[in-house]
Amino acid sequence: MKVIIDPDKCCGYGECVVTAPGLFEIGDDNRAHVMRDGELSRLDAEMAREASYSCPVEAIDIAE
Ligand code: SF4
Repeated sequence: MKVIIDPDKCCGYGECVVTAPGLFEIGDDNRAHVMRDGELSRLDAEMAREASYSCPVEAIDIAE
C-alpha cells in the first residue's frame, strides 16, 4: 500500500494528522507528509483510509 499526498491540493489544516497521528505530519512547507510508507500494518492501513476519507480536499490517495 502506498499513501500519496497531492501537495497542490493539501491546505495543511491537519485533519489527517488528527485522524492518523502516527502516519502523517505537517512539514515546514505547511503541507502534510507521510511519515512512513510501503507495507503498513492492518491498523495503519485502516487509519490511512480514514484519513483519506476525512481530508476535505481529497488530497490523499491510497494505492493498494
Ligand atoms: S487533511 Fe488533507 S488537506 Fe488537511 S493536511 Fe491532511 S492532506 Fe492536507
